This record gives sequence, structure tokens and C-alpha cells, in this order.
Amino acid sequence: MGDNSTSDIIINKSATSHIGAVDFENLSFGNTFTDHMLVCDFRNGAWEKPVIKPYEPFLIDPSAKVFHYGQAIFEGMKAYKDTNDDVWLFRPEENFDRFNKSAERLAMPSVPEEVFIGGMKKLIEIEKEWVKKGLGNSLYIRPFMIAIGSGVIAAPSTQYRFMIILSPARSYYSGEVKVIIAEHYSRAANGGIGAAKAAGNYSAQFYPTKLANEMGYQQIIWTDDATHTKLEEAGTMNVFFRINDTLYTAPVSERILDGVTRKSIIELAARENIKVEVRPVLVSELIEAADNGSLKEIFGAGTAAVINPIVGFSYQDKYHELPKLENSMALELKEKLTNIQYKVAEDTFGWTV
Ligand code: PMP
Repeated sequence: MGDNSTSDIIINKSATSHIGAVDFENLSFGNTFTDHMLVCDFRNGAWEKPVIKPYEPFLIDPSAKVFHYGQAIFEGMKAYKDTNDDVWLFRPEENFDRFNKSAERLAMPSVPEEVFIGGMKKLIEIEKEWVKKGLGNSLYIRPFMIAIGSGVIAAPSTQYRFMIILSPARSYYSGEVKVIIAEHYSRAANGGIGAAKAAGNYSAQFYPTKLANEMGYQQIIWTDDATHTKLEEAGTMNVFFRINDTLYTAPVSERILDGVTRKSIIELAARENIKVEVRPVLVSELIEAADNGSLKEIFGAGTAAVINPIVGFSYQDKYHELPKLENSMALELKEKLTNIQYKVAEDTFGWTV
């Protein structure tokens, strides 16, 4: 890191807070931000001192590489408040490691831990009033990095900006989720950037998802790009299938994001003696299981919704409705996981920080 030590953070506090103007009962996800943000720039081969300052727009040159070549990565995580008013992060090291893997894949510099985790803790400490108590309430944390170096030349930038912004969130309920299995479009390809949390992965999903929405489906179950025969992710979540009493999920690969929720569910299920098989899941197996009645549940897993149950899926123009269950594994695992996140249940895994 050279001489630009980032161990100390410059703090520039806002004279006023707008927290009083926020209706915490009616938050729409991702639209409200706290009073402060963290900014840390990379110039001349080194990270400068991180600064915590009032949340505000900033200027970048119109030729900045982020606008033209999409050098942009991000993370998504949450802070939770327990009944003692203590604020907890859930497995932040996992997001930190994944962020730097994304950075490497996009030819961006890695961010030091004292900036990513240290800066995040400091920022949340300043904004702790924004983390509300009660199951379902959280503070969504969005670390991201963009290429701010100028020049419309398709080459990696030499200047970057790392930032953290915070958005208070209520429990995420997306309504009934019906999905369509991808037969043509792909989210990711071998050798591509699917395993990175790169901005371009999300923009590439918008158009096929818009087509799915127009057909009455909220999300797409992505299949492998080469054969469209393997089930890989659901929307922007990892995906689990319950056939009889076993859960199946695809192994992470170059095409699949290594989700923290997915990983935690696999470990939690093992503790609860729920059988999980991590192996490629075929579209044909899913159809067969739906037809013979052994397919019980499908659910997406990700930070925003934790677990998002799917009510039915369409494949080759045929809709398959899932059974309505009394004892859903999805809901059982969701409760167990959120109880750990909110410190309602003992965290025997050491996941909360
Ligand atoms: N897959 C994709 C493509 C995602 O964007 C996300 C959300 N980050 C996930 C899976 C779930 O990851 P996590 O559990 O770490 O939020």
C-alpha cells in the first residue's frame, strides 16, 4: 500500500440528519440512503485515505471508463440490530473476499481489508440509528468500485473509486414468484464474468427478464449457456430444489455466483439433518419430478430476500405449479437463518460479527 496508509479514516460529519423525515414503515427497497457515505480513491498505484462524508452526488469526467467499458463491481450485505441495540454483520469476510475476486476478474485493484471492513464498521457505527430493531428490518450495505480514470480507450483504468453507501430496508417480500426456465438467453458463460459481482451481469439480465415479466413471470431460472439443460440460478439468487426430502443446488462455477446465503443454507441444513446434494441439476430431472409429484419446493437464496419461495415454473410453454406445503423447508431454513442474523438464536457457526 506504499506510504498512503489507510488505517485512519478522515471523518467529515454532516451538520444535520434527515433520519426524522424517513418513514421506516414504508421503505421501498434501495431508494433511501443514510446521511453519510465512504469514499476511497485509488490513484498513482495506491489507495488514498478513506473519507466518510455526507451522502451527496459527485462529478466524474464523461470519458470515465465506467461509463464506456463497464468497469464496475459491487457487493450486497446487511447489518442487523438485536434486542440489546447491538448491530451485527453477517459473514462480512465472505463479501470482502468475493469483492476482491470480482476486482481481479475486472482488472481492478484489490481493496484493503481496513478500507472494506474497517471503513464499513466505522460508517455503520456513525449510522447506527438507521439500523432498526425487529425481525425483517436491516440496513442494506452496498460497497462498490468504479473506474473513474478518463479516456475512451478500451483498456483498464488507472484510477478507481471505492465507495460504501447504506440503505435502510424492511423485510423483502416480492409477492408470488413464478419463474420461466431459460431456453435461449444466458446470464453467464464459461470463461465469462458470471462468478463476479460485475455491474454488466445485471444489465445483461434486464432485457430477458423484461420479456419474462411481459409473459407473467417474475424471474428467470438461468440454465448453462452451452446446452440450456442445467439449472443454475434464479434471477439474482442462487437456487435450491427440493425433491422428496433432499435439497439440490448446483455447484458454484465460472457461471454461478458463490452466494453467502447459499453457502450458509448448505451448512445450516447439514446441522439440521436435512440432506443437501450439491451437484448439477438437470431441467429433465425437474420436469420428471414435477410430473411424478416428488418435486416439493423451489426457492431462491440471496441476501435481499434471504429465501424466496417459488410457486411454479414454466418450461417449453408448459406451466408446472408447485404444491402448497404445510411444512416448507424453505420457510424453516429462512427462520433458522434469520434467527442467527438477528441474534435470536445462538450463532454456533460464528457467522455474526
Ligand atoms: N447470484 C447472483 C447473481 C446474485 O446477484 C446474488 C446476490 N448477491 C446471489 C446469487 C446471492 O448471493 P448472496 O447470498 O451472497 O447475497
